[in-house]
Amino acid sequence: MRLLQDKIRREGTVLSPSILKVDTFLNHGIDPLLMREIGREFASRFAGGGITKVLTIESSGIAPAMMTALELGVPLIFARKRKSLTLRDDVFTEKIYSYTKEEENEVTVARKLLLPGDTVLIVDDFLANGEAASGMARIAGQAGARIAGFGIVIEKSFQSGRRRLEEEGFRIEALARIRSLENGAVTFLEEPSG
Ligand code: 5GP
Repeated sequence: MRLLQDKIRREGTVLSPSILKVDTFLNHGIDPLLMREIGREFASRFAGGGITKVLTIESSGIAPAMMTALELGVPLIFARKRKSLTLRDDVFTEKIYSYTKEEENEVTVARKLLLPGDTVLIVDDFLANGEAASGMARIAGQAGARIAGFGIVIEKSFQSGRRRLEEEGFRIEALARIRSLENGAVTFLEEPSG
């Protein structure tokens, strides 16, 4: 997606060969017009997939997932990160290791929000090693929901997430695919078509 690649080139900061900072438009400041285009793009790529819900994880997934849900005309659910206080049986729970925070979070989704008849599109801001994506897939699995695929805003293709999800048979649509962050520069895997 050209708009997104241009934005990453202009405003992204390479923090290390493995971390890209995009806090002017996605992770802290949010560009609503860009989010709307992202939502439209995911909605068109997954059109006809029978999606009934969009699932993401707080907090950076919410903006693109919200716009996707709006375009698809379906509800959004975000998995909540919170420490487990007591054993609760009204929630699905999964442990997810956070790539950027280097800690494990217990994430929860209320059982009443995800049902066996649901077809879920999982959206996230970044795909690195696939921990967050796999954790959300496990939550959907606990609910007995079908997974239509993954909508990823920025994929770091030099990390293992895509391979891991593809091995599990999932469809992945990534709007910007980064080949490398070496030498402080962003290189994309493929030139945008539009
Ligand atoms: P994964 O779970 O695939 O290993 O990592 C994806 C999650 O970690 C995303 O939800 C995102 O919040 C965070 N993340 C991974 N890599 C980056 C990065 O390069 N920059 C930012 N800002 N977040 C990242």
